[in-house]
Amino acid sequence: MKFSLVADTLRYMENTTKRLELTQHLVDLFKITPPDIIPKVVYLLQGKLRPDHEGVEIGIAEKIAIKALSKSSGISVKKIDHEYKETGDFGQVASKILEQKTQTTFLNQDITVERVYETLYKIAELRGARSQDMKMKYISSLLNDATPTEGGFIAKIITSNLRLGIADYTILDALSVAYTGSKENRPILEHAYNVCSDLGKVSQAVSKDGISALKDFQVKIFSPIRPMLAERVKSPQEAHEKMGQEFAAEYKLDGERVQIHRQGEKIILYSRSLENITNYYPDIVENIGKSLKVNEVILEAEIVAINDDTGEFLPFQELMHRRRKYKIAKAVQEYPITVNFFDVLLEDGKNCLDVSYKERRKILERIIVEDSFAKVMPMTLVKTDNEVEDSLENAINSGCEGLMLKQLDSPYRAGARASNWLKLKREYRNELGDSLDLVVVGAFYGRGRRTGRYGALLLSAYNDQIDTFPSICKVGTGFTDGSLDQFYQILADKITVKKDPRIESGLEADVWFEPELVIEIVASEITLSPIHKVAMDKIRKGSGLALRFPKFTGKIRFEKTSENATTIDEILTLYNSQKRVIQDERQT
Ligand code: ATP
Repeated sequence: MKFSLVADTLRYMENTTKRLELTQHLVDLFKITPPDIIPKVVYLLQGKLRPDHEGVEIGIAEKIAIKALSKSSGISVKKIDHEYKETGDFGQVASKILEQKTQTTFLNQDITVERVYETLYKIAELRGARSQDMKMKYISSLLNDATPTEGGFIAKIITSNLRLGIADYTILDALSVAYTGSKENRPILEHAYNVCSDLGKVSQAVSKDGISALKDFQVKIFSPIRPMLAERVKSPQEAHEKMGQEFAAEYKLDGERVQIHRQGEKIILYSRSLENITNYYPDIVENIGKSLKVNEVILEAEIVAINDDTGEFLPFQELMHRRRKYKIAKAVQEYPITVNFFDVLLEDGKNCLDVSYKERRKILERIIVEDSFAKVMPMTLVKTDNEVEDSLENAINSGCEGLMLKQLDSPYRAGARASNWLKLKREYRNELGDSLDLVVVGAFYGRGRRTGRYGALLLSAYNDQIDTFPSICKVGTGFTDGSLDQFYQILADKITVKKDPRIESGLEADVWFEPELVIEIVASEITLSPIHKVAMDKIRKGSGLALRFPKFTGKIRFEKTSENATTIDEILTLYNSQKRVIQDERQT
């Protein structure tokens, strides 16, 4: 398949911000893509070679890319460097330079998707002393044969600058339309994706065998499953309304969620957003085998930092010390942990997703041998409001955030946030209740002491139905001098030339970012707003929802991607329950 078909689609997509048009361009492309090639096209469209959890990075330094461009065009590094400094967009520079070249030479041959993909794959695998030279050779051979449009996109992909915002959900929509004829079937595609977390695999199956191939997508070892999530409730009464009379109340520990895949000696750990985090926890890899009675298993647990002397649970931030590349052994000594199992998704090769919570819990208790490192999450069965209150009291006294309430006959609903799992925290009763995890989408320059840094950030929630990031507030409080510096640095390489088409806001930020960084915010209330776009027109025509008195809590949610941020539905639920509290207070 000609790479020009992909490059043309990317070019059309760059020129529109309308979601429907974006999706239609993808549908047109998918319709003409053969099944063997579709996974490659899907990955390349997102600037990837494999799903994120496999950690295959193209990773080319701009310096090398510039050298390669110089080699294929005959134009000096100095001139390319100069152009790049002027425009700040390496893709544009590459197109322009190749344009100049094509005026003097003939193109050799059409480049294909297969060739681009395989060359980039070879580059990603290169290691060692001579790898930089080899990378340069591979890139310049591609650029030699590329048209200016193709070369521009290749340049963007290799330097990780393809910023079209083609998210997973947009691709699922387009696959559904292209291969099943309508968007109606998207939930089936989404289910398959939730089970395997690999859009390439889903795209290949649906393009080859249609929708029937997706219905029984199976859980597989070392293929992470998108995690099941919980809704918030404010009281035991609300929990009873949602889940019926009897349910399980588990401790809700404040740590890092981990999905542990084990097959014999091989162990891989995936984070909440399915990043491979095995290297941060060598103590789990070393010790967990002793606590598992089965050979091939997928488990979920909460990793919690503890005080080694007292055994007390320590706050989530302590685990940040484990996120380092070097001196991990020292961090393991200094910041000990426990692993607290709360679910089982595969047992001895058998899929457990459709098994009820009650049965999964039985399996868990049967296959885990507890010791001081590995524990089964404490759980009690509760029936009355008083029993829930007692469990909450107990959990909080033991250093937990609150309770996770789980419906006894519910299956594991991969990737879903549904009322089969509820979270109940003490602070839900005051003010807004829970904190929100919001995406930094823009910033405003600071004045006075904040000159030269950002004075305020523009934050968005996530609309997981249509894959957009509507703004919900501008936040300028809760920052220390240190955190302002940190944000300025972290955000530097997320700046975009144009606003990402998925961001919706009535405010014009001084700087726009790729919607990637997630931070935690508390607020006093949710109010109606004409400027912010969360849940626009849902409560009142012409109004969205905004946060009143938002404040940064100091927590950067490094383990969350922007698609894991607080959703519009969650904000609507919070808004409605806040209204109920106000009404209740007025009545008493
Ligand atoms: P979410 O993961 O729901 O998007 P979050 O990461 O902000 O939100 P919370 O809303 O505080 O976290 O609660 C959910 C998280 O609680 C889970 O992702 C998991 O990390 C953690 N957790 C702690 N104890 C349990 C438990 N017993 N069962 C399930 N999850 C638990």
